[in-house]
Amino acid sequence: MKFICDEMLKKLASWLRIAGYDVIVMPDGTSDRDIVNKAMSEKRILLTRDQKIAEFKLAEIVAIILECNDLEDCVGQLNHKLRVNWLYQPFTRCNSCNTVLVKAGRDQIQRITEKVRDLETGFLFCPVCNQLFWEGTHVVNMRKQLERWNGAH
Ligand SMILES: [Zn+2]
Repeated sequence: MKFICDEMLKKLASWLRIAGYDVIVMPDGTSDRDIVNKAMSEKRILLTRDQKIAEFKLAEIVAIILECNDLEDCVGQLNHKLRVNWLYQPFTRCNSCNTVLVKAGRDQIQRITEKVRDLETGFLFCPVCNQLFWEGTHVVNMRKQLERWNGAH
């Protein structure tokens, strides 16, 4: 299962990436036609808040239209329409740019403070936007969130 979102659902996209899904976000101003075509050609499920997208015949096949405002609402609606496994492959993908994370090398780890280095092991690294990820408290909290969303099915 792969996704394509419009800019309005950026937060939802970020959380789907945290769950491990491949999600691309189309920049504001991309035409509905282009989004639908990209979804078709890359076999992605289109998530959108844009009701107008239904005007495209192909949208019937690829699009899930959500009528949500905040993240919880969006997740609830998506869960209702599609069986998303929020614990699919958690924390394997960069939530900013969708790149699959790799094990961080010594150089990357050295940029983190001593304190974090002492506390944590298993650093991951995004080779595209140079972000480091590690199992800290924030990850524990995010995992709880994902578990909760999975339980809400
Ligand atoms: Zn990244």
